[in-house]
Order: sequence, then structure tokens, then C-alpha cells
Amino acid sequence: MIIADQPVDWARALESIKTSVNPHIGSGKVADYIPALACVDPNKFGLAVALDRGDMHCLGDADESFSMQSISKVFTLALTLKQIGDELWKRVGREPSGSPFNSIVQLEAEQGIPRNPLINAGAIVTTDHLISAYGGGETGADQAMADLLQLFHRLADDDNISIDRHVAKSESDAGSRNRALAHFMTSFANMANPVEATLSAYFRHCSLAISCRQLARAALFLAFDGTDPVTGEQIVTKKRCRRILAVMMSSGHYDNSGDFAYRIGLPGKSGVGGGILVVAPDHGTIAVWSPGLNRAGTSMVGSIALEELVRQTGWSVFG
Ligand code: GLU
Repeated sequence: MIIADQPVDWARALESIKTSVNPHIGSGKVADYIPALACVDPNKFGLAVALDRGDMHCLGDADESFSMQSISKVFTLALTLKQIGDELWKRVGREPSGSPFNSIVQLEAEQGIPRNPLINAGAIVTTDHLISAYGGGETGADQAMADLLQLFHRLADDDNISIDRHVAKSESDAGSRNRALAHFMTSFANMANPVEATLSAYFRHCSLAISCRQLARAALFLAFDGTDPVTGEQIVTKKRCRRILAVMMSSGHYDNSGDFAYRIGLPGKSGVGGGILVVAPDHGTIAVWSPGLNRAGTSMVGSIALEELVRQTGWSVFG
């Protein structure tokens, strides 16, 4: 439940966000582990807020597609919980990792069980479960990704969301660390499918190309107890929705999660493409994009914009 005293003056709030971010545009370091991300213009900035009836408030490059990267982990988590339920929690935990997104260190100490579904290892196990629910192997991977894409099209009411095959190929070409994580978990019997089948799905969902407007709209079910408030489609139950938000709050930003909760006070998920998705329960969703990242892989300017947004709206899950 969010506490906000009065209706938001969106024109004023957006103006104030613009003023706050302007001196910082271009700051941070653009992800450069694959060429497709390294060549993105660091001066881009977009923001979209989606509200209960699907009303949107947008700023800057809100209609430009960017690489979703780890924000997709929230949607694969939702889809996996919908498909297989709490079985997932036998193979992945719910604790913040305090480690970088692709860390392998904890996995050995913790017998191949990743700390949570929002770090790479946890998302790989979640994806592994998801493709099993679609029959497993390469065919299961293809079907799961087709279903995920359809879900995005339905939720965003927009068929222009796609998997960027070029980015997916680069992710795979540069995927040694993710392969290491997956093989390591296989050695602990925590993977049901061949590593390459699971990773082919993982690389694809990280490579979704989406705009702030589409992302905020697609995530709206998370702000309304698991049900899309515009279409009435239930994506997950109310209980599961709350749990997804709890994991986002504690683990949505890798080793930056505590600081993000302190500064923004809302559940969120960042991706190294420079996007951040934030959920304001009972109010709406916010998607922001600016490619320059801090050391933990969270958008610098995106975080500044969100700090100003919560100042303007009074939105916080902490009352
Ligand atoms: N595709 C990236 C990886 O798996 C995602 C990282 C991120 O966005 O945090 O390395």
C-alpha cells in the first residue's frame, strides 16, 4: 500500500524530473561487454509512467527501444511462477546476494542454489524451469520464448516488442561467464535441460527490445495485485505478485539493492541496457532509460529521475 496524500500534478512532476536530470545527462558508463550495447548514445533519456486505467505520462526518448537485459528476469519469474508455482523455490532462493550480477563465488559455498531469481544464476535456473514447463530442450526454449513475447504483446497492447536477434547472438558470443554459471549449477544437479538450450532462451529474453512506454504498460499488472487493470487479465495471483515485488525490493539491483531501496523506496529492477522498471503498488509503474550505469550496473540518470519522481509524487511503500 502506497501513501500519497494528494493527486499528482504530472506536468509539474515531469518538468521537475527534467530539471533534475538535465545536468547529469550522459553520466555513468555505458555497458560495453557487447558491441550492440557499447554503441548506444549515452545522452539518451526516456521515462514513462503508466497509471491504473492505462493512462501514460512520458518524457524524452520514451518511445525509443532499448535492450531490456535483466529487467526481463521479472517477467520470466512471473511466467515461471504462473506455470510451475512454488516448486521454483526448491532450486532458487529469495535472499539478496550482495554480489555483482554475474558472480560465481556464492554458488560454490551454497551448493549451486542461486541466492535469488534476479541475479544471472537465479534467472538461468528460472529459465531452465520455464523451458521444462514447455517440454524442455530447444523446442521448449522456442515455445517458452514465443509465449513470453506474446505475453509482452498482450500486456503492452503493442506487437512491436521483439527479440533483437543481433543482441541475442552477441550475448551468446560473449556468454562465457553465464555458461560457466550454468555448467557449475549442472554439476550440482540444479539444471534440468542442456545448458545451451536454457541459455538460448536466457539470451533471447535478455535481448528483448522495448521502449519505456511499452515496458511501463506491460508491467502494470505488478502494481495491481497481479491483474492487468485495463484488460482484467490475471497474470499471477495477488499473493505471488506481492512476493515478486518483495524479491524486486530486496534483490532488484544486485549489490546496489539496499541503496536503491533507501533512495527510491519502491520495488524495482534494473538492466545493464540502462533501463529501470519500478512498481508503485496501487498506483502504477515507471520505466526509465538512460544508458550510463553506476558500478553495480544501474542507470545513473535513471536513478536520479526516480528519486525526483518519488519526491514529487510521495510514492513509497514505506508510508
Ligand atoms: N544479459 C546480461 C547478462 O546476462 C544481463 C545483465 C544485466 O542486465 O544485469 O550478463
